[in-house]
Amino acid sequence: MGEVVGRFAPTPSGRMHLGNLFSCLLVWLSARSQGGKIILRMENLDPQRTSRAYGEQLMADLRLLGLTWDEGPYWQSERGGYYQQCLDRLHQLGVVYKCFCSRAELHAAEANAANAPHVSDGEYIYSGKCRKLTEEQVTRLEGSRSPALRLLVSGWEEFTDGHYGPQRCHLPSQCGDFILRRSDGVFAYQLAVTADDGAMGITEVARGRDLLGSTPRQLYLYRLLGLTPPRFIHLPLLLAEDGRRLSKRDGDLGLDGLLERFSPEELVGWLAYLAGQIDRPEAVRPGELVEDFDWEKTPREDIVVGADFFREFTHDSAI
Ligand code: GLU
Repeated sequence: MGEVVGRFAPTPSGRMHLGNLFSCLLVWLSARSQGGKIILRMENLDPQRTSRAYGEQLMADLRLLGLTWDEGPYWQSERGGYYQQCLDRLHQLGVVYKCFCSRAELHAAEANAANAPHVSDGEYIYSGKCRKLTEEQVTRLEGSRSPALRLLVSGWEEFTDGHYGPQRCHLPSQCGDFILRRSDGVFAYQLAVTADDGAMGITEVARGRDLLGSTPRQLYLYRLLGLTPPRFIHLPLLLAEDGRRLSKRDGDLGLDGLLERFSPEELVGWLAYLAGQIDRPEAVRPGELVEDFDWEKTPREDIVVGADFFREFTHDSAI
């Protein structure tokens, strides 16, 4: 077997939160425990939401926690030429079409559809409306707005997730034709992440379970682009007490607040405890966790991170 190559693929749109760090720690442990390497890739495609400064901060935070990488950072904002080549290849295969639907139209169409099948998180399954446009219609519409580009999907994707087992997805009915490039010219996550993971020789993708539904789309793209897919391992999500996914809005669980109260080693210990890798939260460096690392110890259910848990940790580490 060849070398294991994992990756950190953060979106530098703010300071990291606990959920990001949780994924990074597990990516790191999995790669290191197999003697593999890690590539850092900044997913800064969206110039409105991301910044170079957040990326720099992110690297400082990873270093502080001892989550080292061996290659990169690569910045997706600098790889547009490569994404365009991938897009050209898909064009040649005849599976790309222009979509003129505005966000408002998409939402209205879904709300009106009797049995609109919502996926999750406001994601929707595109009806395929613009697939049926004639050339004349496309030319006329292009006079007034610039289109997004969508991928025509077909068939089933099946794979075995490293943590959640066998998965199966019928792309047309469960995903729908998805966007490759937005109408403002920004390449879409699905295209960029697949193109990059493929080109960078990533063999292992570990990431939050919120992206489990993206994996079939990416597998489909791997095939069309002639790239070799990695092994996918999805992770439980960290949830706030009210059941919401932890996000950058949960201020006190952001790194700013946490690092005021805990040392980097305590934070790593806390994450490792949440990940089931140690029996009680205690200050630890990532390297000390490598030998006993085992995916099987990590829960499959999402993990609620409540204020109580913090107290427990504070108490324990004060002994
Ligand atoms: N950049 C994505 C994020 O920060 C992760 C992409 C991935 O792991 O595939 O949510």
